[in-house]
Amino acid sequence: MENLIQGFADFRRDMSAEHRSLFAKLASGQTPHTMFITCADSRIMPELMFNAEPGELFVYRNVGNIVPPYAQHVSGVVAAIEYAVLALKVQHIVICGHSDCGAMKALQNPAALKGMPSVTQWLMHADVARYVVAENRPTILGEEGLRYLTEENVVGQLEHMRTLPVVAAAMANGSLRIHGWIYDIARTEITAFDAMEGTFRPLVAGSNNLPDATPHARFSVPVASAA
Ligand SMILES: [Zn+2]
Repeated sequence: MENLIQGFADFRRDMSAEHRSLFAKLASGQTPHTMFITCADSRIMPELMFNAEPGELFVYRNVGNIVPPYAQHVSGVVAAIEYAVLALKVQHIVICGHSDCGAMKALQNPAALKGMPSVTQWLMHADVARYVVAENRPTILGEEGLRYLTEENVVGQLEHMRTLPVVAAAMANGSLRIHGWIYDIARTEITAFDAMEGTFRPLVAGSNNLPDATPHARFSVPVASAA
């Protein structure tokens, strides 16, 4: 805790004049362009990763970057999406999963959740990913299986998000686009879901050292597109 308190003291002391005036300007309101939904994992730092300034990203985090389907579960994330779309009028919503995700590992190994009834129930919203992988790619195990599961979870959560009436309505009139990304911690790479191709592709041209794209071939209609 002392580290946090000292960190805040350092932050206040070292703040640039530009940031001081930006915070003063933002004191009376925000107009973020993007809602960024990602995992609570401490290794994901959205503002740092995107060189984003205060006021740019409306960030929501939970275990497993999950968006429960509409009418199934009233949750903080669904309320935040409604607010982001209707009140803040964000133009983009990104659902970003990540490598080495504890929630996805728990889907692979449910025994790890013994004694955690709330986490167990929460992760039922990711059952879509577990089922797709178990039914269609039962032989993909280990690290490759975890990557496929993580990708399927992002695709599944995008589909859940489209069940929210505010999201469906905003997408229909072209004011909102949704995106599914995966952040690879070790490689510092992001892959983005290409719904036309049904695969995840590098977000930034020239990215390398990425594993071969795994097809998610059931998609023939665009549910998301790269920025
Ligand atoms: Zn995670």
